Amino acid sequence: MNAYLNLPYQLGEHTHHNTPSIGAALLGDALLTAANLLKQADIAMYQVKSTGRNGLCFFDPQMQAIITARAQLEEDLRTALVEQQFELYYQAQFENNGQVKGSEALLRWHHPLRGLVSPGAFIPLAEESDLILPLGQWVLRTACQQLALWQKNPIYSHLHLSVNVSARQFRQPTFVADVTALIRTTGIRAHLLKLELTESLVLDHVDNAIAKMTELRALGVRFSVDDFGTGHSSLAYLTRLPLDQLKIDQSFVRNIGRQPTDGVIVQTIIGMARNLGLEVIAEGVETPEQHAFLALHGCLLYQGYLFARPAPLATFEALLSAGVPDFEPNRRTGFERLLGR
Ligand code: C2E
Ligand code: MG
Ligand code: MG
Repeated sequence: MNAYLNLPYQLGEHTHHNTPSIGAALLGDALLTAANLLKQADIAMYQVKSTGRNGLCFFDPQMQAIITARAQLEEDLRTALVEQQFELYYQAQFENNGQVKGSEALLRWHHPLRGLVSPGAFIPLAEESDLILPLGQWVLRTACQQLALWQKNPIYSHLHLSVNVSARQFRQPTFVADVTALIRTTGIRAHLLKLELTESLVLDHVDNAIAKMTELRALGVRFSVDDFGTGHSSLAYLTRLPLDQLKIDQSFVRNIGRQPTDGVIVQTIIGMARNLGLEVIAEGVETPEQHAFLALHGCLLYQGYLFARPAPLATFEALLSAGVPDFEPNRRTGFERLLGR
């Protein structure tokens, strides 16, 4: 059927082509209302559209199951926002001398039935709907409020806090105004707030991104490129962006000692950051060997399970007051060990 519909046709002087997406549903034995049958065909049609268009697909109950599960998750997310089921975890970031420079705020969801849910399971869905906007705003507000509390306590007042910002959130016309308002109302020193953006987020609308970043940077806010090395940043763009930090993606760190090319990429990123006057941090550091390699090549900041896992606020603060452990690249050290883990 598609082959026929694909045939070119003439309208006036112009030749046109169709690339139809066709969804089909079978009547079968089940007694379905016309409306439900059409709904099934519609679901099948969207399946074709999402897999490249220009095809035919029959409805499969599995499709319905996936859609129902997604709808349920979306509904649960809305409830979670109202009932405040979210929590920020904090993963420490270490300097070469073992001092904690700050942490990254990582979102967790206490689902009433599923327990603790990691962001990978719900952030993509939240990003597809508008839910990422109130959720992202909650994360930013909570992070700023936490920085304001730390600011009052000499043990914590030096701590930086990195916050992940999703593309949709960043592209909101009110993003700069929203962050500015949070900084003002919480009274934080803005240079302690670091916003983590991804390469694609910045590069998709580079001029707009630069304008927003420049405005916020004028207030003191810092910027880091998360998962650096996985996108397609050109050096020309990198130098135009008002950045403070590159965060080496954990896939490269994981392959240190296993995949020579990834070791080279890590060295290149460290060298490049240094030449551009940017800070560089390695994330996903899990082994003393990875730490040793990174230290040898001039990395000065680390984040990873070797040192500390993301933890609730109280645990993170307890680790800090416990003091600084020995921190040598070749020795297995870290707060985990301090806690006897
Ligand atoms: P990310 O920003 O790249 O965060 C690092 C992820 O790596 C975190 O996963 C962290 O728990 C994990 N990680 C840290 N150290 C290690 C390690 O040594 N080994 C391994 N295997 N993993 C390590 P998490 O918390 O599940 O977050 C996943 C992603 O979800 C984040 O990646 C970020 O993109 C997103 N995310 C988390 N919180 C937020 C948020 O508040 N807002 C937005 N928009 N996205 C968030
Ligand atoms: Mg991050
Ligand atoms: Mg990352």
